[in-house]
Amino acid sequence: MSTFIGMPRAGHPGPPADRTVGHLTGDRAFPAAARDSLADTQLRRNLGHATATIRAKRAKVVAEVPDWEQLRDAASAIKTDTMARLPQLLEQLEAAVIARGGAVHWARDAAEANAIVTALVRATGADEVVKVKSMATQEIGLNEALEAAGITAHETDLAELIVQLGNDRPSHILVPAIHLGRAQIREIFAREMPGVDPALTDEPKVLAEAARTHLRATFLRARVAISGANFGVAETGTLTVVESEGNGRMCLTLPQTLITVMGIEKVVPTWRDLEVFLQLLPRSATGERMNPYTSTWTGVTPGDGPQEFHLVLLDNGRTRALGDELGRTALHCIRCSACLNVCPVYERAGGHAYGSVYPGPIGAILTPLLTGITGDEQPNDSLPFASSLCGACYDVCPVKIDIPSMLVQLRAEHVEKAKATHRVPSPEAASMAAAAWIMSDEKRFARAGRLSRLGRPLIRRGRLRMPLPPPLSGWTASRDVPSPPTETFRDWWQRTREDGEQS
Ligand code: SF4
Repeated sequence: MSTFIGMPRAGHPGPPADRTVGHLTGDRAFPAAARDSLADTQLRRNLGHATATIRAKRAKVVAEVPDWEQLRDAASAIKTDTMARLPQLLEQLEAAVIARGGAVHWARDAAEANAIVTALVRATGADEVVKVKSMATQEIGLNEALEAAGITAHETDLAELIVQLGNDRPSHILVPAIHLGRAQIREIFAREMPGVDPALTDEPKVLAEAARTHLRATFLRARVAISGANFGVAETGTLTVVESEGNGRMCLTLPQTLITVMGIEKVVPTWRDLEVFLQLLPRSATGERMNPYTSTWTGVTPGDGPQEFHLVLLDNGRTRALGDELGRTALHCIRCSACLNVCPVYERAGGHAYGSVYPGPIGAILTPLLTGITGDEQPNDSLPFASSLCGACYDVCPVKIDIPSMLVQLRAEHVEKAKATHRVPSPEAASMAAAAWIMSDEKRFARAGRLSRLGRPLIRRGRLRMPLPPPLSGWTASRDVPSPPTETFRDWWQRTREDGEQS
């Protein structure tokens, strides 16, 4: 059985502007949101400690693999090939899932995906579901859609459970509660977890035991489970979920009905290809040599596990990104989050500042690619600027996504669209135009260099003595200004060369 609601094919323009894209856009632009995070010292301490620990673990286990670079090259090549023939591979996956007793549904955007899943749950008569941690369902805002339909979604991943009970938002792809310390987690459990021991301490073991007891009853009761998928193997129709706790496996095996929401880019051609990613992902993600739990399933097996299986293939802007030659490489992402853990901007600003369910360097490119850059003051337009362009994300990415180049391309796209949208240039655009005018003429540039010396009295120890008036204050408020030299390079060159010629 197959339900075709929206057919994603190469060249599809992606969701029109009036279609919902779920949780891909925040309320505020990155600079304003990051300012609040930077003022939160507890958050910065939690993030600094957690990212440093994961970084060190990752570096250690990656160094153990002699062919790590070859594995990265192989992963990048597999993903390039997959994107080049995505429509065929998706059809192959669909046919294989159906042949093994599953059903496949196509969703163009968040609204369609939520409607499909809600209808499927309703058809079972259930009013609650258990969920495996899933970025795709967060992206489309599935929990809220189910709640609106009177269906309760129980997150079962420990960190997701903490975030859900705390009525909070995830701030990291892999460690959604990375922004919280254990004392804060204890407080959430004590306040929100029904029947929890009032003598609960903030010992990790005690907190984990409380969550286990709370979840066990839910697992045994639930008739429907909802998951994402790390990979979908086209040749056999096999879906894969990797996780660390085993809670995912409880969801994937105990309920009668399993519904999987998978982004269309998660397809891999063969099991041989899957092998490459299963080596790269755990080391890049949690610094583990292999995933503690790797669950794979193919359609329905009579008498074993869920007896009804639905696969929802989600576009939600992916074909828009696929149409962009450089941008399509963002779809290679396997959501390991290594780029977040090395990013100096993420480490200080935290995940909430990005506004999207995809934070950090990958979020700064993926989110605007999925929703489109407007050239206006929309929150996502600021994301490509949330980077120092240091390149650390590129160095650690297991599938070699060139995030810095893509950030530069998105910035250029924003500038061009802003030029076309606004008749009056922004202060930044005006200053850049002035700089281009000065630098395009040798004599003008030399004169400007000499004139800069006039600013020397305004600077002391590399800092401006007083803030410049707006709009220049926007630049100087957070930057030191180097003191102009007493002699410009051109003057020095002329003086020393003339001296040399005379001797
Ligand atoms: S961009 Fe690369 S490093 Fe970042 S989450 Fe995706 S696969 Fe991992």
